[in-house]
Amino acid sequence: MRRAKLVGKQTIEICEEDFQEAPKADEVVIQVKAVGICGTDIHIFNGERKDVEYPRVMGHELSGIVVEAGADVLNVKAGDHVILDPVMACGTCRTCERGHENVCGSVKCFGVQMDGGFQDYIRVPAKQVYAVSEQVPFEEAAVAEPFSVAANILARAEVTSEDRVAVIGAGTIGLCIVQGAKGIGAQVLAMDISEVKLKKAKEFGADACVDTRDTSFEAAVEAFAPGGVDVIIDAVGIAPFVEKCIGLAAPFGRIVVISFDERPIQLSPAVVTRKELSILGSRMNCKRMPVVIQWMEENRINPKAMISRIYPLEELQKAFEETIRDGQSNVKTIIRL
Ligand SMILES: [Zn+2]
Ligand SMILES: [Zn+2]
Repeated sequence: MRRAKLVGKQTIEICEEDFQEAPKADEVVIQVKAVGICGTDIHIFNGERKDVEYPRVMGHELSGIVVEAGADVLNVKAGDHVILDPVMACGTCRTCERGHENVCGSVKCFGVQMDGGFQDYIRVPAKQVYAVSEQVPFEEAAVAEPFSVAANILARAEVTSEDRVAVIGAGTIGLCIVQGAKGIGAQVLAMDISEVKLKKAKEFGADACVDTRDTSFEAAVEAFAPGGVDVIIDAVGIAPFVEKCIGLAAPFGRIVVISFDERPIQLSPAVVTRKELSILGSRMNCKRMPVVIQWMEENRINPKAMISRIYPLEELQKAFEETIRDGQSNVKTIIRL
C-alpha cells in the first residue's frame, strides 16, 4: 500500500509499505478513496503546528470503503461506503461523559496528532465512521468533514430561519456555513476579498455578497441588516476580525469564534451586557456527521461545487504547492486514491 508521509517542512514522501493490521473487535479497516486538503493540512505542511510530529500522514477529510470490520462492529459492515469523523476523544473524562467530546482535554484529530487519510488503508474505531449512500461520489463524501464544522457552528449559534447571519471569509468553512445557513432558511451575508469565492457564495444562495476591498464591514452589515446581524462568524480566523464581529452584532447577537489566533482582543464588557451578546467558541465538530449526511441526502448542500481540483495521491506534493499558490481562487482540493 501507498503511504504519503510528511517527513519535514513542505516535504512529502510516498512510501510503499505492507499493511497487516487486522482490526480489533471494535475497529474497521477502510480503503481510502478520497481525501480533502484542509487549511489545517496546509498549516501542518508549512511546519506551523507545534503539536504535529514527523513523519505524519496528514488528511482528516476522508471517505472510503470498509474492507474489514471487527467482531463487535454493528454500525457498518464490509463493503459500506463511509466517511470518517476525525475527532477522537478519550471517551471517559467528565467532558466526554457530558457529551462534549470535541473539547475533551486529550482530544486528537486523525491526520493531525495521529496518522490520517493520505494512504491506501487506515484502521480506525468503528464509532468514528458513518455509512453514506453509494450514490454519493467519494470526492463529495470527503467534503462532509468541513460541512460538519459548519453544522457545529450553526448549532452553537442556534441559527433559525428568522436569523440574519454574516460570515467573514468565504473559504471552505465560510462557504459551508453559507450553504448550511441557507438550508436552515436564514438570510446570509458573505464577505470576502476574492471575486471567485464571492461568486461561489452567491451560487450557494447568499443573499448579499460584499467585496470588503471596496466596502467596509460596517457598511456591508448596515445595508444587509440595519442595527446589526443576529449571528456573525469570523471564518478567516484572526483576532482583529473577532473584535470586529462584536461590534457588528445586533442586540441578542451571537458571535461564533473558530480562530486559533493567540493574540488578545479588546472587549468592552458594557457592550456585551447592553446587547446581551453571546460569544461562543466552536471547535471541529461534536457528532454532527449525521446532520451533514441528512443535508446531503436532502440535497440541501452542494459538496460537488466546493471542489476546485482533483489530484492522484502520487501528486500530493504538487497538490499542496498549487493549493497554496492559488489560495485566492481555490476552494477545495481533493486527492483521489
Ligand atoms: Zn478540515
Ligand atoms: Zn475526554
